[in-house]
Amino acid sequence: MTSRVRVVLLSLGVAALLIQAPLGGQAAAASAVDAAARHVDRAQLMRDVETLAATTFEGRRTGTPGGLKARQWLVDEFRAIGLQPAGTQGYSQPFTFTTRDARAVLPGGRPFRADYAAANVIGRVPGREIRARLLVITAHYDHLGIRDGVLFPGADDNASGVAVLLAAARHFARNPPRHPIVLAALDAEELGLRGARALIDSALLPRSAVAMNINLDMLSHNDRHEIFAAGTSHTPWLRPLLQEVQTRASVNILFGHDRPIYRGGGLEDWTQSSDHGPFHDAGIPFVYFGVEDHPAYHTSTDTADRIDPRFFGDVADMTVEAVRTFDLRVE
Ligand SMILES: [Zn+2]
Repeated sequence: MTSRVRVVLLSLGVAALLIQAPLGGQAAAASAVDAAARHVDRAQLMRDVETLAATTFEGRRTGTPGGLKARQWLVDEFRAIGLQPAGTQGYSQPFTFTTRDARAVLPGGRPFRADYAAANVIGRVPGREIRARLLVITAHYDHLGIRDGVLFPGADDNASGVAVLLAAARHFARNPPRHPIVLAALDAEELGLRGARALIDSALLPRSAVAMNINLDMLSHNDRHEIFAAGTSHTPWLRPLLQEVQTRASVNILFGHDRPIYRGGGLEDWTQSSDHGPFHDAGIPFVYFGVEDHPAYHTSTDTADRIDPRFFGDVADMTVEAVRTFDLRVE
């Protein structure tokens, strides 16, 4: 056989692989448990989720007493961890917005116009390298609140992401990174990614100063021990870094959910489905970690007791390991 023939066969082989790659994501085998990196206090992780999903926070809807309690709890946690205040008022970045709901014409008395007073909670870990650009870790802390007397605890969505953000904050506060790291617990994601838009539109994050965004939303249960890393189709250089992280992780990292559905192997495009969307619109590379949708999503059954602590702990360790890798390798 001539190399040309072999080249053709080879390229056919590669083509088959490439065609196969976007079809339903690509799983890389999780490394043996004992080789996996361990960074997170898993008992603390679960305590933080249970606190945020507790009835006292009333499902953390933006602008409600429960939402305000969650915000104050986060400010106290950021201070206790020793993060530098990085909002416009200490740790807080207050912002307001108005929603208009066409469904107001339908019976049921939904208001057409609603004004909201919200606030992001933002802290910072200084970097060792003066010129290094920012790594921005985001997770929204708001959820759906109480509707018709029913509580929506939002344990997976998104108390889990906030708990991992706090775990990363504790890790990097103890292990100073190369890059300065901004940690932003965002408000009003459920009302249209408002907190992320307010952060991006503010002077707090000059575009040229930001290397990348790591967004965390729904991290805590999946029956197949799989977590999606969306964003590598937009930023291909992220993929080999995540494949490297895979060799030190106990959870399967899947790639996908970041192309139009007809080009993404039938997977829904999540590019605008959470707080990484405004970063993407601003031309900032992102990776979004999130599980595939599950039956508890946006229901009153999204409770802390449905969380799989082993899976959740593995995802939290993988996330911190991923940020450590980005810190070492991203300029
Ligand atoms: Zn969410």
